[in-house]
Amino acid sequence: MTIASINPATNQTLEKFEPLAKDDVIDAIGVAHGAYQGWRKESFANRKRCLLKFAELLRAEADQHARTITTDMGKRIAESQYEIEYCAMIAEFYANGAERFLADQPMQVDGVDAYIHYEPLGVLLGVMPWNFPFYQVVRFAAPNIMAGNTVMIKHASNVPQCARSVESLFHRCGLPDGVYTNLFIPTEFVETIIADRRVQGVSLTGSEPAGAAVAALAGKNLKRSVLELGGNDPFIVLEDADLDHVVEQAVKGRIVNAGQSCVASKRFIVVESVADRFLAGFKEQLSALNMGDPMDEATTLAPLSTEGAAVKLLEQVRASVDAGASVLLGGDRPDREGAYFNPTLLTDVTPDMPTFDQELFGPVATVYVVKDEAAAIELANQSSYGLGGCVFTADVDRGRRVAEQIESGMVFVNQPTRSQAELPFGGIKNSGYGRELSHLGILEFVNKKLIHLG
Ligand code: NDP
Repeated sequence: MTIASINPATNQTLEKFEPLAKDDVIDAIGVAHGAYQGWRKESFANRKRCLLKFAELLRAEADQHARTITTDMGKRIAESQYEIEYCAMIAEFYANGAERFLADQPMQVDGVDAYIHYEPLGVLLGVMPWNFPFYQVVRFAAPNIMAGNTVMIKHASNVPQCARSVESLFHRCGLPDGVYTNLFIPTEFVETIIADRRVQGVSLTGSEPAGAAVAALAGKNLKRSVLELGGNDPFIVLEDADLDHVVEQAVKGRIVNAGQSCVASKRFIVVESVADRFLAGFKEQLSALNMGDPMDEATTLAPLSTEGAAVKLLEQVRASVDAGASVLLGGDRPDREGAYFNPTLLTDVTPDMPTFDQELFGPVATVYVVKDEAAAIELANQSSYGLGGCVFTADVDRGRRVAEQIESGMVFVNQPTRSQAELPFGGIKNSGYGRELSHLGILEFVNKKLIHLG
């Protein structure tokens, strides 16, 4: 297994990293466990000081970190810049809110006082993906560090420069050694870490197979786990929606991060009376995307994260087309160097096709035309995933009624699903379990201890 930074815009290898030996990993767990003994008793004020410094450093060095993201995994530079700013916002949200989120919760039962007292659990492992290489880590690390846990990160092997930069930021913001540890390791070592008695839980964001493997290890070792896996989010268009707005949001929802977001809109489910107009507008705007160098501000469609990701996406698209799907746009890769993929529109995809229930991680939109609202809801729920989703309608009450019938963890009315520090994030079904962000995110890896004063 190689841990290497390969620029997907050029497919050139920029830097290779040596993985740690197993003994080094065991030593690192010891350091993280030792750090936990002090960090768990540290005041919220001192923890807050470190995370606010982390946010300050991120902002001061934003350009440098944004460039690191773009060279590691190919995201458009403007999106990388936003990712850095968003990480600073998440760090501030937990720095300022943790003490309130974890305040004792008094209760009275049978006339006797009791309360829930929140305590950290210990060393946690985060297994992280490459698609938002700073955000995914900060989303896990910030609440847990504020809660008094210590964290170890196994980052995706294609974003090692990002992994190194995030670790450097967490060290420089004043955290004691061992509160945040980056581990350059092969996936086999994840088992050793989860099995270690000093490690109390694991959080993974990534694919279903990786999630299932880690959940099995967590189960075997009786460790707490949070999984944020893939999605196949429906984007429902009802006949009363403002179509200009819908088309603009459809492009935004599908093309975010070159289509490589778990909550990107993936299945466009459109009521038949507006389907032609929607398709025409969507196709026109997808065709007008400007594919190019992600460092160039004028680029609106960046490459995928790796050559392998582009090859896999092409296989998935071809499998659908071979089985009878129609290609309205794209369907292939451009003749240029780098992990690029043409914006693609597929129709006539049916449940018997392999890609019907697969996550297409790139600029490929599947459009389904349905009779009415009831058929839209039924199709939206015909998925093994249940992460996000959205519904477009001029009537917010109707939007709410539809949203309540969608089987997923998050539904937005009149905008694609998005993440925000204050809002809970997570899914159901094969999209995983647990919640991140918001006040819920900090409650996943704490002991909700009952103290009864009877
Ligand atoms: P993976 O799920 O393989 O990678 C995510 C993380 O999990 C990486 O750190 C990876 O390490 C690690 N990992 C992989 N397998 C195991 C395992 N058996 N045990 C422990 N850790 C493991 O994602 P891919 O990069 O392969 O992407 C494949 C597909 O997954 C995408 O096309 C997309 O559909 C989905 N995906 C969804 C994401 C989301 O945000 N929900 C994010 C990324 C992918 P390493 O890099 O060393 O293999």
